Amino acid sequence: MAGRSAVGADEPGGAVSRVYAHLRGQIVDGEIPPRTKINIENVARELTLSQTPVREALQKLEADGLLDYVAGRGYTTTPKLDLAGLDALFELRFLLEPWAARAVATDRIANPAAKLHDELTRFESNIQRGGDLRQVVLAHDNAFHMLILTATGNPLVRQSFEQSQAHLHLFRLSPIDHDGSIARHEHATIADAIGRSDPDAAERAMRAHLRRSYVRSASAFDVQDDSRIERAEQFPGVSSLRMVD
Ligand SMILES: [Zn+2]
Repeated sequence: MAGRSAVGADEPGGAVSRVYAHLRGQIVDGEIPPRTKINIENVARELTLSQTPVREALQKLEADGLLDYVAGRGYTTTPKLDLAGLDALFELRFLLEPWAARAVATDRIANPAAKLHDELTRFESNIQRGGDLRQVVLAHDNAFHMLILTATGNPLVRQSFEQSQAHLHLFRLSPIDHDGSIARHEHATIADAIGRSDPDAAERAMRAHLRRSYVRSASAFDVQDDSRIERAEQFPGVSSLRMVD
């Protein structure tokens, strides 16, 4: 019980969470560019907080891969993903997520369709409410994919995705989905297939979503459209989509 009120306890709305969300938003939106030094005193002053929660938030951002710590130099923002990093991230996602979509569509007890539709409804109302749309899309994308991975009941699968911090790094690359309509449409297709307990359709919808996400994300790099599609087809199981997609 005492631990809950300890300094820096990471409660929603607590000081650490506030600094974390503030800086994370600025880094993902590019307001703080890559390789920029974070001045702890300035951040603390700007948010009228002591330096302790700021330091704790910076450690969390380091764990997310958004900051690097160098002794004597302090914290600087990491470079954005390069194309090889993007490929590695999608290779992991193609290994985990189509399997996860199939698995949860097969298991009627663990079927997360109701939760997925709730998340889509929440997303819709958060968009209506206004605010920072990009952060709303980011939070939804992460929540949606995590619900499916969590429903597999395999904690290692969930952790692998969590540790990749996929959503943070992808949103940092480029404004992928300005108004959230792409996520809404593609996620609804996945949720519907899972809801029908149709493993083939769920797996296919997830692969198609990942393939399109890859092609959208790779537009941040100087790669021709054709070659982005070709690259997307190198991922495990993707070439089978040619016929249906
Ligand atoms: Zn998504």
